[in-house]
Amino acid sequence: MSAKPSHLFYQGRERKPVLDQARGVYMWDVDGKRYLDGSSGAMVCNIGHSNENVLEAMRRQMEKSTFGYRLHFETEASEKLASKTAALTPEGLNRVFFVSGGSEAVESAIKLARQYALAVGQGSRWKVISRSPSYHGCTLGALAITGYAPLTKPFEPMMQMMPKVPAPRAYLDGLDPDDIATGHHYAHMLEAQILAEGPESVLAFIVEPVGGASTGALVPPRGYMERVQEICRQYGVLFILDEVMTGAGRTGKFLASEHWNLEPDIMVMSKGFAAGYMPLGGMAAHERLVEPVLDAGGFLHGFTYAGNPLACAAGLAVIDEIERLGLVRNAALMGEKLLTRLRELMDRHAIIGDVRGMGLLTAFEFMSDRATKAPLPKELRAFDRFVQIAYVKGLIVYSRRTRDGVEGDHVLVCPPMIVNETHLDEITEMLDAALA
Ligand code: PMP
Repeated sequence: MSAKPSHLFYQGRERKPVLDQARGVYMWDVDGKRYLDGSSGAMVCNIGHSNENVLEAMRRQMEKSTFGYRLHFETEASEKLASKTAALTPEGLNRVFFVSGGSEAVESAIKLARQYALAVGQGSRWKVISRSPSYHGCTLGALAITGYAPLTKPFEPMMQMMPKVPAPRAYLDGLDPDDIATGHHYAHMLEAQILAEGPESVLAFIVEPVGGASTGALVPPRGYMERVQEICRQYGVLFILDEVMTGAGRTGKFLASEHWNLEPDIMVMSKGFAAGYMPLGGMAAHERLVEPVLDAGGFLHGFTYAGNPLACAAGLAVIDEIERLGLVRNAALMGEKLLTRLRELMDRHAIIGDVRGMGLLTAFEFMSDRATKAPLPKELRAFDRFVQIAYVKGLIVYSRRTRDGVEGDHVLVCPPMIVNETHLDEITEMLDAALA
């Protein structure tokens, strides 16, 4: 840790090591200590660090131009990335809007949905139903649809909080996630909420296909995703998928929505799309939403840095690398192997109460009792201690305290999609040692 005083502040007072270099799945601090990036940043660096082809594409773009204001210029990079995004997202999602991160993408989706409702004479629709727990971003609009009280509570007087429905957590409710009745049981909660709100007031439902930071790599029960999409259609509620964390191959398909052949009205993306090479986010919206908004006078929304050519060039090169290196398939293959290793750790360490995931979005959850699913006592601070010990051993994991010591804690293990079995061995050994 650096002892020098700093002008930076992000969260607490604790100083972090100073990053020097990063290559592939490894990162080094200025003291030469090596870390295995078992979290891909915050599930961002999907293709690993310092990929030479991406750097070269960025160099080429930098030599041409680094900024063109979106109301003055389109760029070849943003045009190409929009076409590529439209080709990779479900049928009809062929209008693409770029931003610089996940929260901005979520804000954009909410504001497009609202302007669509106004444009088609449905101005009574404004409520965006989401789930709890969920995470959709830290800006006030995205926070209002985030289902996690420790983050939202202090700001609630300043926001119009939106209705929440429970995110399915079959393992906590003692239900079988492979039984379609379980999926329908949770989906029915959305229908009940829409009816309670009054369908004519409900604008949209937003959902993470596989919970990331919120529920810790929790895969929805069978039938859930298809059924919530149907319910949205039935009540004229727009269906928004938040693929900020799950997109760009993380779950073993390019988009998590492909696992269920979903056809959302809007999809939001970020993180893995430019894989940490540049800040980039985006929304792909169905043309049937965008056309009325444009007819009604245009989309009232935008960020100065939106569609930055360097970010778009990086994004394009990242997608090329994902395709060239077969990283989506590798995420599926290595994800299976990682899950097996995490289950073996669960056999050896009683503190692990659940292991789950899809592709290379995997997690384990600490419990003090597997039978009752009771969380660890907060005073133990086992979660913080585990993350810190792993760090000291040279493994970075994505730490989230979803249940906040009241309900429990999970640890996401999500290395870059370029990992091989030797890296997985290394990760497992360090996890094992930290758990011990
Ligand atoms: N949606 C989801 C599902 C996320 O996981 C995140 C970030 N963890 C966001 C939105 C917000 O993204 P950002 O931090 O880039 O604003």
